[in-house]
Amino acid sequence: MSDYDVVIIGGSAAGLSAALVLSRARRRVLVIDSGAPRNAPAPHLHGFLSADGMPPGELLSAGRAEVKGYGGEILEGTVTELIRCGPEGFQVLLAGGRRVSARRLLVATGLRDELPAVEGLTDRWARDVLHCPYCHGYEVRDQQLGVLGGSADAVRYAQIIRQWTHDLVLFAPPGSLSVPERAGLVARAIGIVEGTVRRVVVEGGRLAGVELDDGRLIRRDAVFVPPRFVPNSALLTGAGCETDEAGWPVKDGTGLTTVAGLWVAGNVANPRAQVITAAGEGSAAAMAINADLVEADIKDAVRAFNLGL
Ligand SMILES: Cc1cc2nc3c(=O)[nH]c(=O)nc-3n(C[C@H](O)[C@H](O)[C@H](O)COP(=O)(O)OP(=O)(O)OC[C@H]3O[C@@H](n4cnc5c(N)ncnc54)[C@H](O)[C@@H]3O)c2cc1C
Repeated sequence: MSDYDVVIIGGSAAGLSAALVLSRARRRVLVIDSGAPRNAPAPHLHGFLSADGMPPGELLSAGRAEVKGYGGEILEGTVTELIRCGPEGFQVLLAGGRRVSARRLLVATGLRDELPAVEGLTDRWARDVLHCPYCHGYEVRDQQLGVLGGSADAVRYAQIIRQWTHDLVLFAPPGSLSVPERAGLVARAIGIVEGTVRRVVVEGGRLAGVELDDGRLIRRDAVFVPPRFVPNSALLTGAGCETDEAGWPVKDGTGLTTVAGLWVAGNVANPRAQVITAAGEGSAAAMAINADLVEADIKDAVRAFNLGL
């Protein structure tokens, strides 16, 4: 018999929501978490109904307490490998050598934000270097904002951020804007600064502005940067899950991957998931996992019944 019905790797919004549903469904659940949720650098969490403005760590502490209240177990640790064992189960290997077995797995390991190689960006991340206007736009509303361009959808991104301020500048690499893009920016009074960004400048512990290669300093209170999203999916690919052409795990509407018995939820397979979305995906995956376990329970019961056990 497996140690657990379900082992969940990643104990943040997606993983803990799944654990809550599964432990309330009276499944034996273990959550293994390495303690680095994506929004940890942010002082506050926004857009999560009833928890708006809460420090991100507080939401997770409350979630852990709720899961434990129904008998779910939570372990600090890093999972290094997932191994399929027979048609129905998995072994989960942890750094340090521990191993646990599970009938089903949910991977909710999130994603990494890779920032452009501009001096100073990483140090100011989640303070005045921001990426998501829905998470932080309101907090910097009406301030002098900038968007670091250069990526394929930077102009569209700037047009969205315009919603939060009248004083917005797009930093665009020379010659990168098309005529219609330029027209759209000018029409909505978005400033265009063409040049190569050298670094973000900090004065008195706050962002002062953006410095260009030619020495110009454009004063800004905060800048928005579209990061490259990279799924933390090594465990999934190692277990044989297929990925799409962009490298994201392939899943169905419940989060089931191409490996039977192995589900995903949250940012590991959906870069657009906010905290509330990740939590919702975890909850939906949990119900699908429980339904799958019920199917297996029926088969086992019929087999035992027919053997007269
Ligand atoms: C700076 C910043 C601010 C944000 N602010 C907001 C906001 O205000 N509102 C909002 O809705 N969204 C916000 N987001 C987005 C939010 O962070 C994500 O939507 C959310 O974290 C996704 O949850 P998740 O459970 O999928 O992944 P995560 O929260 O990233 O959790 C993944 C978990 O898996 C663990 N893990 C990874 N690999 C392993 C492993 N091998 N073994 C064990 N554990 C592992 C990690 O330690 C982590 O705890 C913000 C993002 C950033 C970067």
